Amino acid sequence: MEFQIKTKKREEIIDITELINDKIKNSGCKNGIAHICVLHTTAAITINENEDPNVPQDLLNFLAKLVPKEEKWTHNKIDSNGDSHIKASLIGNSIHIPIKNGELHLGRYQGIMFCEFDGPRTRNVILKI
Ligand code: ZN
Repeated sequence: MEFQIKTKKREEIIDITELINDKIKNSGCKNGIAHICVLHTTAAITINENEDPNVPQDLLNFLAKLVPKEEKWTHNKIDSNGDSHIKASLIGNSIHIPIKNGELHLGRYQGIMFCEFDGPRTRNVILKI
């Protein structure tokens, strides 16, 4: 199935764990694998801590230092998001997670984090169970 995520900032990380768990519950699947794929080149998806909101903020801060927006990216001649493309590739566009007893089988502090690097936009995401 395909669904949309509306982002509000140029860069933000959104916890979509419950959204994905609701879709798995609605699917009726009890055991299997969830494959989640982002259909963009300036957004990404990863798994990280969802207990402390400082963790996603630290990730954004680190990526901003590693891949500065102000750098003279060759791509910026035609588009102003050279940094966004590199950040998206570093994080990756898909993950897969086991499904156990009708929900994502994640560790205590793990959450699914949608990463926006060139928002605000409406993003398309695929969930294949
Ligand atoms: Zn671009």
